[in-house]
Amino acid sequence: MPTDTTVASAGLPMVWLMVMVVLLIALAALALWFGTLYLRERHRRELLSADLDAATTRLGDYDGQLPPGLVPRTRFDAELDTLAHKADREGRHFCVLFVNFDKLGHINERHGFGVGDAVVHELASRMITAAGPKAVVAPMSGDEYLVLLNLDLAQAQSLAARMVKELARPCVVEGAPEHIGCSVGVAAYPEHGSRQRLVSRAHAAMRAVKLAGGNAHMVFEPRMETNTREQAELVADLRLAVARGELELFYQPKIDASSLQITAAEALLRWHHPKRGMVSPAVFVPLAERHGLINAIGHWVIEDACRQAAQWRDQGLRMRVAINISAHQMREDELVERLEATLKLHGLQPARFTCEITETVAMENTEVTRRTFAKMRQAGLHVSIDDFGVGQNSLSYLRQLPAAELKVDASFVQDIEFNRDSRSIVDALVKLAHALGLRVVAEGVETEGQRDVLVQLGCDELQGYLFAKPMSAKALGLWALTDDSAGPGAPSQEFRASLFEQTQPMVPPDMK
Ligand code: C2E
Ligand code: MG
Ligand code: MG
Repeated sequence: MPTDTTVASAGLPMVWLMVMVVLLIALAALALWFGTLYLRERHRRELLSADLDAATTRLGDYDGQLPPGLVPRTRFDAELDTLAHKADREGRHFCVLFVNFDKLGHINERHGFGVGDAVVHELASRMITAAGPKAVVAPMSGDEYLVLLNLDLAQAQSLAARMVKELARPCVVEGAPEHIGCSVGVAAYPEHGSRQRLVSRAHAAMRAVKLAGGNAHMVFEPRMETNTREQAELVADLRLAVARGELELFYQPKIDASSLQITAAEALLRWHHPKRGMVSPAVFVPLAERHGLINAIGHWVIEDACRQAAQWRDQGLRMRVAINISAHQMREDELVERLEATLKLHGLQPARFTCEITETVAMENTEVTRRTFAKMRQAGLHVSIDDFGVGQNSLSYLRQLPAAELKVDASFVQDIEFNRDSRSIVDALVKLAHALGLRVVAEGVETEGQRDVLVQLGCDELQGYLFAKPMSAKALGLWALTDDSAGPGAPSQEFRASLFEQTQPMVPPDMK
């Protein structure tokens, strides 16, 4: 029996041993299985993530349907970072070009945006070819591009010169050759500052080329930045101009061509800068548009012009008051509501208030401008199309606008005495406008000769230095008190006669 016990006691560890071995084998198999699963999953994830990266890059490339050869700005910035790190490590140089097409505005104006787009396409592909296959090219806006070149300054300069030459070749636009050209600014790393400043320095160099007449390239120099800095300062000052009371509306009268009576006064914005003196709206209105300040300034103009109109009305000076409306204001949802509310506040009739909208803006024909025009018509405002003749005027569209007045651009008036083309154009414009029931105002009238031709061609109203320059509201009040019929500039107790009552108001009868 002891033997049995021995066997039994010897067999027990054997069984345990076997169980342990089986367990271990099972555990190892399980670990192996999990390990394989884990590795396979990791591999799958890596593949997936690589696929996603590639897909994202591809998507990025075609973001906004970029034409071939262009990359999105984000990709350009990433490449710029990589090149800057490499240049730091290896002591190498690279360059950024800022390219701007020169005379696209003319093409858009004369031939329309569709033709303009085709020209941009042609110029962009010439630029990409000139930049070479290794360049990274990204669009900044419709006619501005950034080019990253893994070249030193001397090499980049000769490439920029080649690019300028390539783009100076004429483009055929609707059968005729057009010289567009480009301005190229060059900034090199590390010569022209940190990676972050490179693009703005290439831009400053491009601006310098533009100022010098375009169609060339220039390498960045510190003096070029003063302009950019000056502009930034001007924008910062402009932000505070309304609150500081630095803006003023000057007024220039419009005169009835046959009776010389006043019909209206156009408000023209002036900025009294504390250091620079009077700044022209031709300088600060585009700046205000670009930096999102025009709506705030425009609101001030509406309020001040209405206040002044009410004051003149109370004093017995009868005429329309006109304001200029910018492109951004036309896209503002509440513009007409604001005008209506302010006019109501001052007890003014909308028909006695003119909104001058440039032809270029009026012809935009976008959903939002159409809506604003429709609201203007509904509100009974007097609408005038300013600077007519310079844009790509679509005469059939002009018929749909609720305009009551058309202002012939000063450029036609300037040479109307001696240029037969200008005279024929104004002749045709007057006939067309009259056929559409619009009154015609000629602006920029400086000489008696111009006045005589314009009157002979049938212009209804005249405006220009010949009659009066833009002046303060107070000066206009005094000017309106002089009576030329009693001798030139003779003072009078009464305001000059106004043709206002004879003009065709656009209001429904119950508003009179
Ligand atoms: P615009 O509305 O076409 O105004 C006519 C411009 O021609 C004015 O220039 C006026 O002073 C000038 N002018 C008038 N008569 C003569 C003349 O006989 N000869 C010459 N050489 N010039 C004459 P200004 O005041 O510098 O205004 C320039 C432009 O700035 C205006 O052109 C208008 O587009 C814009 N602007 C002016 N005030 C405002 C405003 O309150 N809001 C907006 N959005 N734009 C404004
Ligand atoms: Mg105007
Ligand atoms: Mg004008």
